[in-house]
Amino acid sequence: MAYTYDDQNIFAKILRKEIPNDTVLETEHSLAFRDIRPQAPLHVLVIPKGPYVTFDHFAQEASEAEIVDYVRAVGEVCRREGVAEDGWRLISNAGRDGVQEVPHLHVHVLAGRGLGRMLERG
Ligand code: AMP
Repeated sequence: MAYTYDDQNIFAKILRKEIPNDTVLETEHSLAFRDIRPQAPLHVLVIPKGPYVTFDHFAQEASEAEIVDYVRAVGEVCRREGVAEDGWRLISNAGRDGVQEVPHLHVHVLAGRGLGRMLERG
C-alpha cells in the first residue's frame, strides 16, 4: 500500500516545535515524549523524526540508520525510566482497525502497573 503523509498532524507540529512536548529522549532520528493523556504511570510515545505514517511505512521506506536509531531509542527510554526490570508494553496502533488517532508513526511505551491482558474486545 502507498502512504501519504499529512504534515499537519499533531506530531509533525511537535517536531517543528510549533507546540510543546515533555521530552524524555531526543536522538538524531527519534523523539520520545510523555503522552498528554497517560493510560499508565509511565506512558511515553516514541516517534521517528521522518515523515512515516505507520510502522509498515517506516519499515518499507526508512533508512537503516533511522531504523536502528528508533529501535535503540525505545530501549533507551525503558532503561532511563527504570521499567526494564519490572516490565512494560509496546503498542503501535495503525490505521482504521488499529484505531490510530495521529497519522505519524508512534509506539506507546506503557509501564508502572500491572497492565492486564493485551486486548479487550470492543
Ligand atoms: P493513537 O491512537 O495510537 O494514534 O494515539 C495517539 C496518542 O497521542 C494518544 O495516546 C494521545 O493521548 C496522544 N497525544 C495526542 N496529542 C498529544 C500531544 N500534543 N502531546 C502528547 N501526546 C499527545
